Amino acid sequence: MKSVEDHLTGILGRIEPLAPLELQLLDAHGSLLVDEVASTGDLPPFDNSSMDGYAVRISDVADAGERYPVVLDVVDDIAAGDAAETAIGSGTCARIMTGAPLPAGAEAIVPVEWTDAGMPTVRITRRPSAGQYIRRRGSDVTAGQTVLEAGSTIGSAQIGLLAAIGRERIRVRPKPRVVILSTGSELTQPGRPIGPGQIRDSNSYMLTAAAREAGAIAYRVGNVPDDPKVLIDTIEDQLIRADVVVTTGGVSAGAYDVVKAVLSELGTVEFGKVAMQPGMPQGFGVIGPDETPIFTLPGNPVSAFVSFEVFVRPALLRMQGAAVTERPVVRATCATALKSPDGKRQYLRAWYTAPAEGVGEGTVEPVGGTGSHLLGSLAKANALLTVPADVTEVAEGADVAVMLLS
Ligand code: AMP
Ligand code: MG
Repeated sequence: MKSVEDHLTGILGRIEPLAPLELQLLDAHGSLLVDEVASTGDLPPFDNSSMDGYAVRISDVADAGERYPVVLDVVDDIAAGDAAETAIGSGTCARIMTGAPLPAGAEAIVPVEWTDAGMPTVRITRRPSAGQYIRRRGSDVTAGQTVLEAGSTIGSAQIGLLAAIGRERIRVRPKPRVVILSTGSELTQPGRPIGPGQIRDSNSYMLTAAAREAGAIAYRVGNVPDDPKVLIDTIEDQLIRADVVVTTGGVSAGAYDVVKAVLSELGTVEFGKVAMQPGMPQGFGVIGPDETPIFTLPGNPVSAFVSFEVFVRPALLRMQGAAVTERPVVRATCATALKSPDGKRQYLRAWYTAPAEGVGEGTVEPVGGTGSHLLGSLAKANALLTVPADVTEVAEGADVAVMLLS
């Protein structure tokens, strides 16, 4: 049996980051930036007001107070989007709105609340300090400054910044397109009547969502029956839109385990056992003219889920150019004693509680049983508690590794 590490290393060794693509800002949402981005100009691009009020010279308002307001002539009215054309001379000021450019000579903004809001003269009852309520050119970002590092994830804030500096397009790694295909003649789709011996296809939904959570564009292909011809035809049809194919079911030693039977014959997909529980039967290889990577995961929903987390998710992240492809792993105190099979790394559905105020170690507790069909408990887990292959017993209070799922 192969170790989890060996299997994963073999997979990642055959997965390349996808070729970069230049995309419009919003199309790049959620992707990873390929090159660092520097700003070509200053932000803000000009000195401007951060308040609605009056742009003044400090010497003119030095004596302003509630009892002795200063009265100034208002020589201009500057709205956001205007050009400030009139300079402020002694004894004068300009009405100014938030975001409007500062007129020449202005040294501070008096918020409208400190005045009688007058036009064409204004009474000022409080004095601002020099520079108050002025947003200086370049105080946010200066021209030439690196604003985003290569490898950054393009989220909403990054898109806002790129728009602010005037970038329309950026180079990112595209999101991998993943086809998720479930196999099994016993499967039916939610919303359809269920016949004797049938169960609903949960894997294709679950893994499509998981692939999207991993940043991929995922296409769900509902259940394919355990029929070699239908299976191979379906995979061939789907290859056109796939950077990766993920199948579930049909990889054990059963009489109708058609995925293994059909794909073994191609010689490009390797099937074997990985020393883990759940998820022991695994297949990985390439298929079709473009040598598209294909993962064949076991059919039990929890096995499929864990296999996806451990092998497929890192591959999808690598295709996107991520520096870190693993889920975060933390140490935690195990709340209950556990037994674990010898020679297999166990992944237990678990609930992780972070330490109070972030100090010290959190605690972790398995949720539900170990059966790989137990989806109910999977949906209650926020982590996978991992027990190393050579450990068969974990004492209550022992220190264990926990893979955080969210
Ligand atoms: P298999 O790997 O095909 O032998 O399937 C193992 C177990 O997982 C069987 O009990 C299947 O009925 C179940 N199973 C397979 N595929 C799915 C699926 N897409 N959704 C839910 N259960 C499944
Ligand atoms: Mg099956």
